[in-house]
This record gives sequence, C-alpha cells and structure tokens, in this order.
Amino acid sequence: MNHACLSALVLVLCSSQLPAGEFRVGAAKVDITPADGTPLGGYYRFRGSAGVLDPLFAKTIVFEKDGTHAAIVVLDLSGTVRPVVEAARNEIQKQCGIEGDHIMISGTHTHTGPQQPRGSLMDDITKVNSPPGVAYMSALPGKIAQSVKEAKAKLAPAKVAAAVGKAEGISFNRRVLRAGVKEAIWQPQKIDPATDRPAGPIDPDVGVLAFHGAGADATPLASLLNFAMHPTSVGGGVKISADYPGVFTKLVSERHGPGMISVFANGCCGNINHGDYLTGKRRTTLELGTALADAATAAWPALQYVEAFKPRVKSEMVTLERRKLSDADIAKAKDVVNRMFTENLGTVPMAEAVCVMETLDKKDVPLRVEVQVIALSDEVAILSLPGEIFVELGLAIKKQSPFKHTFIAELANGSMGYVPNREAYPQGNYEVVSARGEAGSGEKLVEAALKLLREAKEQ
Ligand SMILES: [Zn+2]
Repeated sequence: MNHACLSALVLVLCSSQLPAGEFRVGAAKVDITPADGTPLGGYYRFRGSAGVLDPLFAKTIVFEKDGTHAAIVVLDLSGTVRPVVEAARNEIQKQCGIEGDHIMISGTHTHTGPQQPRGSLMDDITKVNSPPGVAYMSALPGKIAQSVKEAKAKLAPAKVAAAVGKAEGISFNRRVLRAGVKEAIWQPQKIDPATDRPAGPIDPDVGVLAFHGAGADATPLASLLNFAMHPTSVGGGVKISADYPGVFTKLVSERHGPGMISVFANGCCGNINHGDYLTGKRRTTLELGTALADAATAAWPALQYVEAFKPRVKSEMVTLERRKLSDADIAKAKDVVNRMFTENLGTVPMAEAVCVMETLDKKDVPLRVEVQVIALSDEVAILSLPGEIFVELGLAIKKQSPFKHTFIAELANGSMGYVPNREAYPQGNYEVVSARGEAGSGEKLVEAALKLLREAKEQ
C-alpha cells in the first residue's frame, strides 16, 4: 500500500469515528403498550387492562461526545423496579456498547399503565405475577434496550439549549393542614381557606431542554420536558393511557416538527397532584397537557444555547434506614392484611399495611437506592432520584445545585416508594404511613444529589 492510499485509509477510518469535539444526540421511542388483560398499577386494587386511550412508550435520548455515551430513558409506567433497570442496563451494554451505569431509566408515574412486581403484598393485590403480567415484564427490558439502540443509531451533531417556563395554577400540594389538627388532610376535594392551608409548596417550573441539529437548518431532534405533578387525571379505569405527559409530549412534538422526540421526566411530585381544592375543579388530561405544552411554547423563545461537553455521569448507591415499627403498627397491619382481600378498607390503611409487612419481611436487607447525575454542560445537569420525592426536597436541590438548570427525574433506577421531607413525618397520612425510609431519608438523598452535582460540575 503506498503512502497516499494509507493516508486515505486513515482518513476514512477517522471520519467513521467522530470528528473530535462534536456533541451528538439521538432520540427514539418504542411502543410498550400492553396487551389486554395486563395488570395495571397505580392503585391498591386489581385492574386488568381493557382497551387503549393512547399508547405507552419507552422514550430515549442518547448523548455522545468523544466516544462517551449517556442516555435518559423514560417509561410511560407508574415507576421503575430495580430488576428491570438492571436487566435493561445489561441488555443495553450488550446490544449498544453503552455502559449500563451511564443509563438513567425513570417512569412518568402514569396510573393507567402496567404494574411491575415489587416483591411485596402489592403483587398479590394487583395480580402482577399472573401470566399476562409476567409476559409483559419479561419483554420490557428488551424493549427498553431497543429504544436505546434506535436512539443511538440516530446520533447526529446537535446543539443543546435550555429554558424554564412556568405553569401556574394547575398543580397543588395535596396535603393540607387544618388549624388545630396535627395530621395532614390528604387530597381534599375543596378546602376552607379560613381554616385550611396547603402543607407545603408546589414547583411551577416547566424545564425545557431542546436538542436541534447542528446544521444551519437546526432540525428539531428531541426535547426533555420536566414538571412535577402526579399523572392521575385519567382516573384509574382499565383503559391504557400515558395521562397528561402523553398529551404534553405529543403537542410539543407537533409544534416543533414530527422528527422531534419529546420526553417527559416527572419531577419531585410525591405530594403534588392536579386536584384543585381551591375551586373544587379537576382539570382533564387534555387541559393539563395543553397547559404544560403552552408553558413550554411560551418558554421556547427564551431557550439559550449551552456549550455541551462530554457527558459526565456520576452515581451513588445510598443506604437508608428502614422505617421503625412499633408493636402496634405490626398488629394493625396484620389485621388489615387479614381483611384486605375481602373488604374494602380504603387506600391509606392498605398502603400502610403493605409497607409495614414489606419492612418486616426485609428488615435485614439494606434499603439501598441509586442517585445519578448526567451533566451535559456547565449549565445543565439531569438528576435522578429513586422514588416519589416530596416537592420540598426537589426545590432544595434546585436551589443549591451548582448548575443553572437541574432537571430532576424521579422514580428512576428503581423506586423506594414515597420519600417525604422530615417535616411531613409528624403530620402522617398516606405518603408518610407508606414510606419505606425513616424520617431524614429524603434529606440524605438531597445531600447525595448535591454532592454528585458538585462533583459533576467540578470534574
Ligand atoms: Zn404516587
């Protein structure tokens, strides 16, 4: 081979690699809508799916620079469970060559999608281990890997821009304190402002991270959208729906070109839902999704390009203290368990009993959960948290984060259920009585998150 041929070959080899310094993005979605009869999640009862209002997806955005990849995957499911996350990461590593621990997998928390096994009484209540449930779960890791594979195949030079919109008046802190009463009221229909006040804030921020092609035409490639609110607006029937995130992402994609894959990560919404107890009104799925899409559209002109760097991924397994149980807690839970399959006992006693029995069962198993950060520039980081995190904790992270824009994906890389802030514990009720972690667990996650964010910033 002469010298000219050799240099041509070197050139070809190099260009099939990457032009140095280019940041690339690829996005894809794979349908994960279940077959009829699949056990659904979100409530303390069995519902087998029957019909589809709108499809469910595993949506992925892959980031790459100088050969380092990272990806965020969001599932239209009630959350994530660790065995699925681990199986999907293994599959992704095998099929796509992306390190498993560079993948962040979260759930939108839709309440009209398939249930996943949790290794607790919840599995019996939801019949998740029945044949349709098992069939769905065994296919899920492969579908997640498929969405990452398709996203990776579409990697193209991209520009990253971030902005924050506001959606006021659509989300509400669903815990309310009444003058003279210690225990919080949960999800009231309507409050009396003379005696009642929300127990905490909401987070009105609509985070927008937009990815456009680096060429002059700035082709829309993907967007990552972030807001904190329970997707419970469809209302617990048996028809499949992605709830308001489905409407939100569909509208954003329609408004910015069909090639744009819009991905919604739910923020810290453990105590936030859409029930407007000021007016008693409950907005529809369409109204909620449209309000959020309008907020994102209003923020679009404020998008600011950032200098993307090689994805910096940090993660840590945090060990938390399991909740302490009294003899009375255990006796009460056993009584509920004896009656829960024949009587209608209501959500709160069932949630408490499930958690108490699980805690008893796993008392010698450490409660270990993952916190993960993917930083894309000096201004932009995506943080994952492993449960349904109270909004106060998310706000504390955003306020102290060294990044200008911190996107938070809750219910990510597995879930420990509700994570209230310390102040909420003495106020009791649904989220507190079903929390796996002792008071202070949420603050420990905040601490771990801030440490990882700082490390990613300083790397
Ligand atoms: Zn929830």
